[in-house]
Amino acid sequence: MTLLQIHEPGETPLPHEGEAALAVGIDLGTTNSVVAFARQSKPAALHDETGRAMVPSVVAWDEVGRAIVGEPARAILADTPDRAVASVKRLMGRGLADVTAIAGVLPYKIESGAGAHDMVRVVAGGRARSPVEISAEILRTLKLRAEAALEKPVERAVVTVPAYFDDAARTATRDAARLAGLEVLRLVNEPTAAALAYGLDRGAEGLYAVYDLGGGTFDFSLLHLEKGVFQVLATGGDTALGGDDFDRLIAERMLSERKHDGLGDVLDTATVKKALLLARQMKEQLSERDQTSGRLDLAGKPSFHALTRGDFEALIAPLVARTVEIARSVLLDAGKVPADVAGVVLVGGSTRTLLVRQAVDAAFGRPPLTDIDPDEVVALGAALQAEALTGGSDSLLLDVNPLSLGLETMGGVVEKIVPRNTPVPVQLAQEFTTYQDGQTAMSIHVVQGEREMAGDCRSLARFELTGIPPMTAGAARIRVVFAVDADSLLTVSASERTTGIEQRVEVKPSYGIDHDEMADMLHAGLDHAEDDMMARLLAESRVDASRALLALDGALAADGDLLSATEKSEIDTAAARLRAAVAADDRNEIGAAAEALETLSKTFAERRMDRGIRRALSGLSVGELERRVGT
Ligand code: ADP
Ligand code: MG
Repeated sequence: MTLLQIHEPGETPLPHEGEAALAVGIDLGTTNSVVAFARQSKPAALHDETGRAMVPSVVAWDEVGRAIVGEPARAILADTPDRAVASVKRLMGRGLADVTAIAGVLPYKIESGAGAHDMVRVVAGGRARSPVEISAEILRTLKLRAEAALEKPVERAVVTVPAYFDDAARTATRDAARLAGLEVLRLVNEPTAAALAYGLDRGAEGLYAVYDLGGGTFDFSLLHLEKGVFQVLATGGDTALGGDDFDRLIAERMLSERKHDGLGDVLDTATVKKALLLARQMKEQLSERDQTSGRLDLAGKPSFHALTRGDFEALIAPLVARTVEIARSVLLDAGKVPADVAGVVLVGGSTRTLLVRQAVDAAFGRPPLTDIDPDEVVALGAALQAEALTGGSDSLLLDVNPLSLGLETMGGVVEKIVPRNTPVPVQLAQEFTTYQDGQTAMSIHVVQGEREMAGDCRSLARFELTGIPPMTAGAARIRVVFAVDADSLLTVSASERTTGIEQRVEVKPSYGIDHDEMADMLHAGLDHAEDDMMARLLAESRVDASRALLALDGALAADGDLLSATEKSEIDTAAARLRAAVAADDRNEIGAAAEALETLSKTFAERRMDRGIRRALSGLSVGELERRVGT
């Protein structure tokens, strides 16, 4: 009940997207979000009345359950944490099992969704809500801001997502936008958007790096630019490393200074929050000044803390070193050296920290690109893309699918249908046939990953194509179509061509791949290339051998009388040798035994053919015979 490949994929383009009106670019961040708009290829972030572009990605609920988003929600989070939610992006498209690893860093209660594999629910403001609902509140706020600034309704957006976001997380993001009344024109990878903002797509082809250090996450991506298309070559990072950790180190230092001065504090949440808030302000000041100081007022006992940039840098040096290490290992895994990189883009508020800039400069031997505000750069790139997609400008970016998509075929071998880094949208089809006589159903197993064997890839979906009329093995024509839309979301359909029956699934994996898993999957393909090739060759030779043995059994049952006893026993011996080779997983022996069997059964095959012809002709009149030969 499995598939055999017949044809190589053939490409069919998807229909064009419809004409669109005003569209904005949105960076939906873990810590902060930004909305931007581009006119004549000039993007600008949209500010609130006070001139702030960043909206803290925090949602709170008031007594009657109304949502409050951004700065005021952040204030509520500080006072009454059970009424507010931050960092919800970490939960997008994730099931309970996926988040246990990060649950420790999230200060709110998480429940499992309705089904075992459903997205988690967040309990806050007296209710359980899905991450999609909560993200939608942030997006709604951004939409309103854009409408106020542009004085027009805004119904379309390009939204950015981390390069490692899988299908589930991308779908969740798109659903959140829809809920907020925004049609997503395209989901664009954050590093790609940042590179676009710098106009790198119009520059020299080559390798670019994007170093993104935000509040709680570090992402490092390598992009390859070719013919105006960015491919995410490799990504790496740490989902628990960012500016918040810098704050923590400063806060700890201040609290220990107080202890040293005889001010014994009760280290409850409120105390820690106050210290963190002050730490953050001091940290941000040190991006501009050489030294700063702050007053920490706890339990009516104030203390004063001085912090020089040198002190601060000594505190955070190990964390910064770690980001550089991650960047190095991503480069190494991609088989590149720092000198191969044509430019490094800095993204994220924490890259304002001077030590970070110096460390990146030193690691790559060139100053990073810092002209564009690192808080806004992703949103600006998204806005440019939104303008391009609505016809306002002529530069059109294509994105690529991040991991190969394929099907499991006979022997557990993966047939890659949409290879990694294929520009999307794309629709690729491949034909398969049945393996056994009379096979009436076929199970389709869709997998994602770079490995050659299905067991080593991520399973995305399984479905059955049933109702295939019984035919001899190889007669059915099963066409499987993989359609990947512009957001890397996949629909798979299978149809039997002679009967027209069709089955279709929208592939929505119920839980996500985390950052590390994604990076592992990308690298695993390279690491295991040789082993995988051997495994694949072995699996294929096993399939060929089994098919030959199956055919032989059928032939012997039907026409065994055409063989003499000696011939029959010779063939039986050769068949037994092949069976033993298959059982022993010995590829060379399978090859040799299969060849020996084929040579031996050649005469048998010829005699069967003669008999077949004689049978076909017997009983036919000359007239009929002429007609048959003539057609
Ligand atoms: P995310 O991508 O996770 O949404 P951001 O890119 O908005 O996060 O980064 C937020 C982080 O940047 C916070 O830790 C914040 O303190 C830090 N940050 C903002 N401004 C500065 C600055 N001037 N100097 C150092 N860090 C800063
Ligand atoms: Mg960000």
